[in-house]
Amino acid sequence: MDEKEAIERLTDHFRIHYDGRPTPYLDKAVAITMNALHKQIPKKPKNIKTILDFSGRYYTTKGDCPVCNREGLYKSDFYCNKCGQKLDWDFMG
Ligand SMILES: [Zn+2]
Repeated sequence: MDEKEAIERLTDHFRIHYDGRPTPYLDKAVAITMNALHKQIPKKPKNIKTILDFSGRYYTTKGDCPVCNREGLYKSDFYCNKCGQKLDWDFMG
């Protein structure tokens, strides 16, 4: 089971068992868990920029967090250092 499937199953579970009944503490716990799970699904950074070194060769890739808009994240950052969103740089090759 990956994170996406876990989110779907949790959503179904709580819809079936708690639909219409007030469960404020549980709702909050689930919301926190879901939020953490969502951040484990890699998202592509925004405003991707390729950084070249002084001789014009590829140096690194830079971008902004797609969730909290944190700027100045680098390809070496697997997670956003502000909100913890997992980042997907793989499409850059
Ligand atoms: Zn972020």
